[in-house]
Amino acid sequence: MKTAELIGQLRVDPGRPARLAKRDPGDRLGLVDKQSSATHLAELVAELALLHNRLRAEARRSLLLVLQGLDASGKDGTISHVFTGVNPQGCSVHSFKAPVGAELAHDYLWRVHAACPARGEIGIFNRSHYEDAVTVRVNALAPKNVWKRRPAHICEFERMLTDEGTTVLKVFLNVSPEEQRKRLQERLANPEKAWKFRREDLDTRSRFDEYMSAYDDVLTETSTDWAPWHIVPADHNWVRNFAVAELLVGALRAIDPQLPAPDPELKGVRIS
Ligand code: AMP
Ligand code: MG
Repeated sequence: MKTAELIGQLRVDPGRPARLAKRDPGDRLGLVDKQSSATHLAELVAELALLHNRLRAEARRSLLLVLQGLDASGKDGTISHVFTGVNPQGCSVHSFKAPVGAELAHDYLWRVHAACPARGEIGIFNRSHYEDAVTVRVNALAPKNVWKRRPAHICEFERMLTDEGTTVLKVFLNVSPEEQRKRLQERLANPEKAWKFRREDLDTRSRFDEYMSAYDDVLTETSTDWAPWHIVPADHNWVRNFAVAELLVGALRAIDPQLPAPDPELKGVRIS
């Protein structure tokens, strides 16, 4: 499948319902298996590194990857696998937790705006301002009139970022309840991963359907022409990595960052 076709398949068309329930988390997107798609993934990772270098050199525009998904949907794994070739200089990752201290003393977008990538950079949000619309709603952390108006704020916030030179690429990792159960169980049993498991995760797990229903609404309300959502099937890690790499490369190709013209004074200079 061509990059543009794949992006079209994953995108939530603005103005249309996200219909999470109709999207198969086990979809392989036409790929046969991990081995046969490995070369293509390696090519995408290499292209990502090249385009990121140009983005840095141009230093005019930026790319923000917003990664959302339930626990164990693969947000951490996506970041570590897809960005293996990317220069850490000019790339930042921000993991959003429940707000504390000064964060609570400001509006919910304050900390988010401060974490957005500078010109020439790729920024990665591991969770994001969407927690303020979804988690806050599911757990009744604020009254309905407060969370209900947030999708509209968020659309305008992202429009401003886009107008000012940031491409906002939004990805929802769609994991099935059965695959999440397996992963959480493995997480508990593996000493290298058990630290990720907090008691609150059991409560979140028990609200799987409520989360999906809230996401369904919020993805629908916030998929815009300037910052559409993409729903990535996440039950197979290799499909997920491939899809996110395609989305990133597609976004960077669209930005088409330009290398600065060489200094004419340096033409033909011989280094002694
Ligand atoms: P983790 O990503 O596993 O480290 O967990 C971070 C936790 O912080 C998750 O349970 C999120 O739902 C929670 N969180 C992140 N941002 C917010 C927010 N704005 N409001 C409430 N909870 C949040
Ligand atoms: Mg967690």
